[in-house]
Amino acid sequence: MLLRLSSLAAGYGLKTVISDVSFALEPGQIMAFLGHNGAGKTTTLKTIMGLLPPRAGEVQFDDKRIDRLSVSDRVAMGLRLLPEGRGIFPDLSVAENIDVVAARNCGPGAMFEIDDVYKLFPVLDERRTTRSGSLSGGQQQMLAMSLAILGTPRCLLLDEPSIGLAPNLVERLFDQVQDVCRAHGVTALLVEQNVAAAMRIADRVVIMNNGQIVFDGLPDEARASNFWNYF
Ligand code: ATP
Repeated sequence: MLLRLSSLAAGYGLKTVISDVSFALEPGQIMAFLGHNGAGKTTTLKTIMGLLPPRAGEVQFDDKRIDRLSVSDRVAMGLRLLPEGRGIFPDLSVAENIDVVAARNCGPGAMFEIDDVYKLFPVLDERRTTRSGSLSGGQQQMLAMSLAILGTPRCLLLDEPSIGLAPNLVERLFDQVQDVCRAHGVTALLVEQNVAAAMRIADRVVIMNNGQIVFDGLPDEARASNFWNYF
């Protein structure tokens, strides 16, 4: 298994938001991580990434326990978060955003170098000098995705990448996520409100309700279940 959560709990202040969260992901798997607003999906991603300390349980990556490692150590191991709200530097140009992150994440032999992301998203190549805050929503999301994959990602934690995108752009972006995962064996954990779009590319579906996992199975099993009750 590439990523394994065992009985994970986390929260804020006096409030424990997620508890007893366990699932594991194989290399190359795409998991749709679904659930209503406030269910605890973002909290789970933040805990995996090291932005929030676990209150109980363990996170393992590549069979090593990582829940006490720094965020930068986790990035170096190949964990990448595309945060809710994109996480780009809006005052920098497209090229400056890409160069800053590439300088940090692209070591020798990186899977995705600067030229690779421009090939994957040609519109960003055309907009290299544009201030990234002035890009369209779709282009900003492509930039956010580029920043997440630069270097050698092994597991992408994608927090609602479809927000604000037109349906055709969502399809295209998700096709690109699927291509990256299939071609390079990258794992993706995809938090989505756009259930249909996420299910289209997912190998696996995990549903969270009130901070707990209530379903873990194949997309067809999810479709056949009563999981719609959780939305
Ligand atoms: P959404 O789709 O709305 O982002 P989510 O499933 O990702 O939903 P979380 O963002 O993890 O849910 O939020 C879970 C709970 O934790 C909510 O009740 C939320 O109000 C609370 N919460 C989230 N962030 C904080 C914070 N920084 N401080 C205190 N409570 C928080």
